[in-house]
Amino acid sequence: MRIASVIVDVPARQTDRPFDYLIPERWEDLVVPGMRVAVSFGPRKLQGFVIAVKDTVDADVQKIKELADLLDVTPVLNEELLSLGFWLTDETLCFTISAFQAMLPTAIKASYKKQLLLKGNVPEEVQLLFRGKETLDWEELEKQPHIYKSVRESIAAGAIELVYKIKDRVQKKKQKMIRPVPPEEELEKEAASLRNGKQQDVLYYFLENYRSVPLKELKDELGITDGPVKALVKKGLLHETYVEIYRNPYDDESFERTKPLPLTEEQQQAITPILSSVQQNRHDVFLMYGVTGSGKTEVYLQSIEEVLKQGKEAIVLVPEISLTPQMVHRFKGRFGSQVAVLHSALSVGEKYDEWRKILRKEVRVVVGARSAVFAPFENLGIIIIDEEHESSYKQEDNPRYHAREVAVWRGRYHNCPIVLGSATPTLESFARAKKGVYQLLTMKKRMNERALPAVDIIDMREELREGNRSMFSRLLHEKILQRLERGEQTVLFLNRRGHSTFVMCRDCGYVLQCPHCDISLTYHRMNQRLKCHYCNYEEPMPNECPACSSTYIRFFGTGTQKVEEELTRLFPEARVIRMDVDTTSRKGAHEKLLGAFGEGKADILLGTQMIAKGLDFPHVTLVGVLTADTMLHLPDFRASEKTYQLLTQVSGRAGRHHLPGEVVIQTYTPEHYSVELAKQQEYDVFFEREMYMRKNGQYPPYYYLTLVTVSHPELLKAVQVTEKIVSFLRQHCAPETIILGPAASSIPRIKDRYRYQCMIKYKREPNLKHVLRLVNEHYQAELGKDLQISIDFNPTMLM
Ligand code: ADP
Ligand code: ZN
Ligand code: ZN
Repeated sequence: MRIASVIVDVPARQTDRPFDYLIPERWEDLVVPGMRVAVSFGPRKLQGFVIAVKDTVDADVQKIKELADLLDVTPVLNEELLSLGFWLTDETLCFTISAFQAMLPTAIKASYKKQLLLKGNVPEEVQLLFRGKETLDWEELEKQPHIYKSVRESIAAGAIELVYKIKDRVQKKKQKMIRPVPPEEELEKEAASLRNGKQQDVLYYFLENYRSVPLKELKDELGITDGPVKALVKKGLLHETYVEIYRNPYDDESFERTKPLPLTEEQQQAITPILSSVQQNRHDVFLMYGVTGSGKTEVYLQSIEEVLKQGKEAIVLVPEISLTPQMVHRFKGRFGSQVAVLHSALSVGEKYDEWRKILRKEVRVVVGARSAVFAPFENLGIIIIDEEHESSYKQEDNPRYHAREVAVWRGRYHNCPIVLGSATPTLESFARAKKGVYQLLTMKKRMNERALPAVDIIDMREELREGNRSMFSRLLHEKILQRLERGEQTVLFLNRRGHSTFVMCRDCGYVLQCPHCDISLTYHRMNQRLKCHYCNYEEPMPNECPACSSTYIRFFGTGTQKVEEELTRLFPEARVIRMDVDTTSRKGAHEKLLGAFGEGKADILLGTQMIAKGLDFPHVTLVGVLTADTMLHLPDFRASEKTYQLLTQVSGRAGRHHLPGEVVIQTYTPEHYSVELAKQQEYDVFFEREMYMRKNGQYPPYYYLTLVTVSHPELLKAVQVTEKIVSFLRQHCAPETIILGPAASSIPRIKDRYRYQCMIKYKREPNLKHVLRLVNEHYQAELGKDLQISIDFNPTMLM
């Protein structure tokens, strides 16, 4: 008798353990760990993962049920990924099932239709099954279980392939678009007369964005279902259409092959220890601290070349936002079709296609965003994490893992090096490198010894005092003019989060915030009101500053569109390309706009965060940052670090080639050290200064942080539970450990759920995971719809 130990697909505490199922005799040879199966679970039929096959049962043998179905013929999780899953479960206190799901592409999480593709010679009984056709629906095979075994052997031999037929493959090529029907004035009247708040929100959205919008974007933006949109379509106020979108953005591009460049001395020094780790199968973690333009990417490329030479595989992680066509080109240019690319803009089908290329060993390099760290390579030779300081490497949902930690785990498993690269490493990583936990590789020189660009910092309060009310300082204005005259290019950068438009006093820098949340209010042009996006608080736009009574209080973070208008007014002859969520939402738009700018079809590139990274254009000699301080207003101990990083990154975009570059940073807080030191690009000085602040504030890297957030629709309940957790922790933690709370989260109420938190700061607390697991167990019965407890180790978001 063979028994399968199965983790079922119910993310809940009660079911977060293996359940035993009897393997029917006809499948005994087939079932192996890492396969998915269907099982009856109470009244339901569920998906589950086989984690072990054994001969004995824990439960009463009489009651044991049989596996209902096999969902795979070959395992989707190999041995390594299974144990990585258990490690993640343990490390982040998530459910095992969530850890498994996080490692797989969406396509195979859902129950998609399975098909077998005939690709080679198979035994006659199998041949007959296909009846002369090339494909066979899985259901057909299920009717003939005695053939399973030969089918599986054929799959192993490559004669048959099992594929998941993605239903969206055809449909995904089209996207539903919604556009307003009546003219703006009429729409405004209609909106005002509507009773339904959701429908009203939709119309107000279109009044602010009077254009065709993808339905999905609209829904995400407003957090609504199809309902209100459908109702408005029925009323004739909105119209729906379909537009074509491309399936594979890289399909029709040819990548010119590049050859390895002879390395500079600094590059040579950096690569030597990496190559020796690769050659000697040693697990080392390197921190490659190299200023922008010092040639880090070339070092990555040549390290990977060595890995491939050893017959091994490589994973390169880059932040989603810098997964630009330029970056992809550099890897495809060097390694051609051996490269798979994984990022969120791909459809479910495309992601699944790339993932299969990895499984089938058709590719040996993966370039991708965070989750690509789970690429199912079996012979890993290196993992590279570019821009290691990016906060997007930490997943904010369960499992709350950091790609860096997963990479280190896999590096240890495969005995291979990990390379973390950045011009502005996180304080944590740099401190580890200084202590010798990581090996520090330093590259201080830009290619060809090009000087770092000269940086001017402009105090915008001063500008106003001297009568300049424009969003461009006089210096920036003058420098843009110069570029236009000389035929050089300018990049203008708007440091702005999301779509928010906040209100700031231009005399004193005061930012209007929600009284209930530590977050700035968003200005809504339509009804001239300020709104909190998290708790829906509203107030009218004030006429004067609550802090200094100045009347120069304006909505700010001015959208890119507004800046574009102003640019056209000030420099009518300038050709401007605007890159923001609006102009790049269509697949391929990103490439097109950047391509046009690269070919010199525009003088000015204007954009948000998305243009901060990875751009490398020879004719850009001026970079302007319109508002440097928006991030300093965030309630986050990393605010200074993030500001420093961003300003440094942006500055690095200027003067990368033969022409010298200049940078103008406009700010309302020029005296802040993260702004000042970004000007000098003195990371070491910034590091010392910021470490001092962290030491005083008892923050990482001096202390570890763990954040426990309790949320409940009733305020009192949220407070009570948090209080209990706090006192429980106080009893069980070391006396030196600091336990803060209960305190309202910095956004204390989201969607009618009150949020309280407890922050644990500690140097050594080996028992913490165990203690927090006890907390979870204690509330097990109550956890669910009303009460939620989230536990975040080393949080990157403190909100
Ligand atoms: P980083 O990744 O550190 O910002 P890059 O790798 O993008 O730096 O290098 C900056 C520029 O210098 C790129 O245009 C790159 O092609 C070029 N480059 C890099 N290494 C060399 C080299 N050894 N010789 C000549 N040019 C190089
Ligand atoms: Zn609020
Ligand atoms: Zn003021």
